[in-house]
Amino acid sequence: MLRLPFAIALIAATAPAAQAQVGVGPLPASAPAGLPIPKDRAFAGTLTLAVDATDTARGIVTVHETIPVQAAGDFVLLYPQWETASHAPTVPLASLTGLEVRIDGRRVEWRRDPVAVYAFHVPVPAGARSMTLGFTIIADRDTLHRDRIDLQWQRALLYPAGWFARDLPVSARLRFPAGMTPFTALDRIGTDPADLQFATTALDRLVDAPVYAAQTVRQIDLEPGDPQPVRLDLVARDSTKLAIGDRETAELRALLAQTRHVFGPAPFRHYDAIVVLDDTVGAGGIEHLEEGENNLPADYLLRPETQLNNRDLIAHELVHAWNGRFRQPADLWTPTFNDPAGGSLLWVYEGQTEYWGRVLAARSGMRSRQETLDKLALDAATVANRPGRLWKSLADTTNDAIYMAGHHVGWRDWQRREDYYPEGVLLWLDVDARLRELSGGKRSLDDFARRFFHAAQPDGVVSTYMFDDVCRGLDAIAHDDWRTFLTRHLDTHDDAEATAGLARAGWRLVYTPVPSETFLQNEAEGGGLDLGYSVGAVVDDDGSIDSVAWDSPAFRAGLAPGARILTVEGAPYSREALRLATARSTATIRLEISADGQRRALEIQYAGGLRYPRLERIAGRPDRLSGLLGSR
Ligand SMILES: [Zn+2]
Repeated sequence: MLRLPFAIALIAATAPAAQAQVGVGPLPASAPAGLPIPKDRAFAGTLTLAVDATDTARGIVTVHETIPVQAAGDFVLLYPQWETASHAPTVPLASLTGLEVRIDGRRVEWRRDPVAVYAFHVPVPAGARSMTLGFTIIADRDTLHRDRIDLQWQRALLYPAGWFARDLPVSARLRFPAGMTPFTALDRIGTDPADLQFATTALDRLVDAPVYAAQTVRQIDLEPGDPQPVRLDLVARDSTKLAIGDRETAELRALLAQTRHVFGPAPFRHYDAIVVLDDTVGAGGIEHLEEGENNLPADYLLRPETQLNNRDLIAHELVHAWNGRFRQPADLWTPTFNDPAGGSLLWVYEGQTEYWGRVLAARSGMRSRQETLDKLALDAATVANRPGRLWKSLADTTNDAIYMAGHHVGWRDWQRREDYYPEGVLLWLDVDARLRELSGGKRSLDDFARRFFHAAQPDGVVSTYMFDDVCRGLDAIAHDDWRTFLTRHLDTHDDAEATAGLARAGWRLVYTPVPSETFLQNEAEGGGLDLGYSVGAVVDDDGSIDSVAWDSPAFRAGLAPGARILTVEGAPYSREALRLATARSTATIRLEISADGQRRALEIQYAGGLRYPRLERIAGRPDRLSGLLGSR
């Protein structure tokens, strides 16, 4: 150890060429001129956009657009880059093809900006009147399918740089295959059923209202006669999947009532909960002010008893109308789709929405009290088993969307990825419990939500907020040092601190040898055997290792994702063999695996039995959770 500085000094002395040299070598070329800065100002005229989505066989969308010329000179067109769905720059630029620009009928050469590659410079001569664009979009198969189209406007238009998106009026039309029925929140004019013409709207509103059209559909008005109607728009491949039971309809109606009870007046004129029932699209949703896109398993309505883990998706997207679209974090809101967005408050935007999803699903009867406790146990176990927290705080995970979108995350609990969803549930549970604690049970997060997300009228004008606004909003409900309280959650490296809300609510996370039904369904959706909380591995049915928990017994034995278990205690791999071996092991579990083309034996040191998360009451502590979950 003592010799090391001497060795370094020796290397430096004998290798002069490696020395740093100031003022020798090239200098950077001067940066190209920037793009026009978006300004909040009037745009002369209206953009017209004609999208043809009839070529489902090839998956090609054809677009024609006209843009009124504003002035001569360098005119910059932007292809949107950032999307609400991902909070990230995920619009695939390679899909934009065949771009041709004409000015007063004559073709002109565009030039792509070498730095901002989503921008196209067009030279506009003096006296020019109109600009027409023609281009094609190579759609992915999920969005342009024989049975269904899902038109995301931001992927099918160009718009002028230099204006806020809300200042650009757009008159859009959409052609789709005959026989399909469209769903959208946009106002329609005209009567052609396969060539939809929409009322002129601002660009930001257009992009916030995608159009679904499909062969097999069903629409249910959930609140007949309501001045702000909410419609359930069902889309399936097979009409048998569209059957909805009276109980499920009643639960959705209860969800609307419970949601309005928490958040007050709706920020939408009407709302379309679009539900795509299809196993080929992963479960998940996208929020909009007047629409929710909900991708759910084909049997979601037909076999609701198998859908415990997806029960709050529709609730989550509906809550986003208030928390996300009407009220937006100041750094996440941007004037155009090409300005970088900041995610510092995603633990409010997504985290509190996830929290309300859990709560409202319980209050509307979509999950029983026990099913809700079991779902919260899954959240708590995720948060309580995050070794990645040692290096990466919850606050830092709010950057994940920007650099992790589209990348495989093989070591989820160590890399962490968008943990502000489950961790948001625990964080807001702690805030709710703290409000109850401070107010002697009189106040809760309901009071905060009613105040913070209060929407006076359904005009959709966005209201932005910052961290201090959240603190002030909480302080108005019950006085405390909320900045310190929230910062502790955001910055902690301690799993126990991240789950502190459970104890404040009178509950604790425990592990039992018997999994809950919710756990089993979650495991089945993953498609394997989930021993994440015992030996520390999730194993596919063919023995392939899906994931390994960081620093778990499986990790220490040398297991990693991608390896395959061949034998368990000498017998061929089966999930039952591994489950039994885990349950019975008093010291080691002997495995043979294949990894990197080689077969080898290894032993997992483990004697803890099967372990599955559950919630348990802490005797003597007030139960602040049960009251939260009861219907209002
Ligand atoms: Zn969300």
